[in-house]
Amino acid sequence: MEPIVEKDLLQKLKSNFGYDSFRLEQQKIIENVLAKKDTLVIMPTGGGKSICFQLPALFFEGITLVISPLIALMKDQVDSLKANGISATYFNSSQTEEEQQHVFDVIVNKEVRLVYVAPESLQLLQNILHQNYISCIAIDEAHCISSWGHDFRPSYKQLAFLKKSLPDVPVIALTATADKATQEDILEQLAIPNATRFISSFNRENIALEVRPANDRVQQITKFINRRPNESGIIYCLSRKATEQLAAKLSQSGIDARPYHAGLSFEERAETQESFIKDDVQIICATIAFGMGIDKSNVRWIIHYNMPKNIEGYYQEIGRAGRDGLPSHALLFHSYADVIQLRQFIANTANQEVQEAKLERMKQFSEATVCRRKILLSYFGELIEENCGNCDVCKNPPQFFDGTVIAQKALSAIYRLQGKEAMGTVIDVLRGAQNAAILDKNYQLLKTYGVGKEISWRDWQHYLIQLVNQGFCQIAFHLNNTLQLTEFSEKVLFNGEKVELTTPIEISKESPKQEKV
Ligand code: ADP
Ligand code: ZN
Repeated sequence: MEPIVEKDLLQKLKSNFGYDSFRLEQQKIIENVLAKKDTLVIMPTGGGKSICFQLPALFFEGITLVISPLIALMKDQVDSLKANGISATYFNSSQTEEEQQHVFDVIVNKEVRLVYVAPESLQLLQNILHQNYISCIAIDEAHCISSWGHDFRPSYKQLAFLKKSLPDVPVIALTATADKATQEDILEQLAIPNATRFISSFNRENIALEVRPANDRVQQITKFINRRPNESGIIYCLSRKATEQLAAKLSQSGIDARPYHAGLSFEERAETQESFIKDDVQIICATIAFGMGIDKSNVRWIIHYNMPKNIEGYYQEIGRAGRDGLPSHALLFHSYADVIQLRQFIANTANQEVQEAKLERMKQFSEATVCRRKILLSYFGELIEENCGNCDVCKNPPQFFDGTVIAQKALSAIYRLQGKEAMGTVIDVLRGAQNAAILDKNYQLLKTYGVGKEISWRDWQHYLIQLVNQGFCQIAFHLNNTLQLTEFSEKVLFNGEKVELTTPIEISKESPKQEKV
């Protein structure tokens, strides 16, 4: 094979996809794949992940196998490749045996560039999983392999064998949402520990972030929408019933809104989706089933009627707004009733602890008194120094005081505990608690033991959450929720960096008004 140079890549980008330049890190990613190196791509939805494996596929000798969980979208994906002059096909359980046999032949004869496969159908392809035929393996929605991820699918577990049976074939794993723990897990599970990582920025500056208490939601939403005539938006609700009730209520106040959930017939869903894309319907009240794979660039706002169960989900959902880069708005209603309900959903399910920790983080995001974008980004392992200026906290900041000494105490306690303890024990150490957990481990001998006696337990919790939210320390979900230092901690501990904290607010005794929806 002739060495492939930039000119060749740009030429294919133009001739097959019609684009003049690469976006973000696309080119580097493509070069890495073409160099047959394993690759991990974390790129926000709409960032342009597909080209990262579709373009290399045009240069490889053999086939690029694309593992994708979205059977419903496979045909569309293949059709749009064909429309771009790229030969492709798919293989899944919806096909007849004959059709499947045809795909075998096509692969063996290398008659197509790309083959999309559902993970559960992969074993049927086992006989032809051979490096003579397969040149590259792309794993889309790679977070599905991890039980730390927010959308774990058992069928993805089988993918671990791919690297073992095809050790010389490069694997490119792609996802839009993977927190740090999930990223580690993906590499481990896929047996590609040395994969080059490309983590694009998660920062979507054009989306204004706002959180409000969930009081009189319908009224608030009606006002919100009336202030934005002719704008498209999606309102996410927790249940099917809620989507219908809310759509009905909005319609009563003259707002044309349609429900969308997995309980509706295929035709109804397709029709609603189509009308939304064409701007015939501007507002959809949906469960999270809505939005996957929808390519609509002018969604102007997203409302979360209910709290999402984790930050990955929240980020993914708000990411459906403003793909055209124009100013957009994400409004989240925060209610303790939702937190309680979500906790009940999680109870007794697989991975309960991970899910609880993630929900807790979502709750902390909602309660935040520091720049919300900082929290969001730090969750995905991205640290920003400046406040964003485009979230409700930045626009309407709470009162801050110099919390440097408090931060120093907290961080040095975490340092002395070597990142081995979760928040509760860190607070116990700071407050000089005398319980068995402390005394058993001789924590009373630590230098920081009791240095924070004068601060109440609850206030410490408030401060520590703020420190996490500002990136000065982090919660390692994959290591029993232990509190750990970050690269920012040093600045506070050794370089005298000033830390601003907010005074703890009295917890509101007012529970949100009970609503019918
Ligand atoms: P993702 O899979 O990351 O959500 P896609 O691969 O579907 O994103 O790409 C999102 C959109 O961006 C698509 O419409 C795609 O054609 C477009 N796109 C991708 N790369 C480029 C590029 N280099 N220049 C312009 N548009 C691009
Ligand atoms: Zn901000």
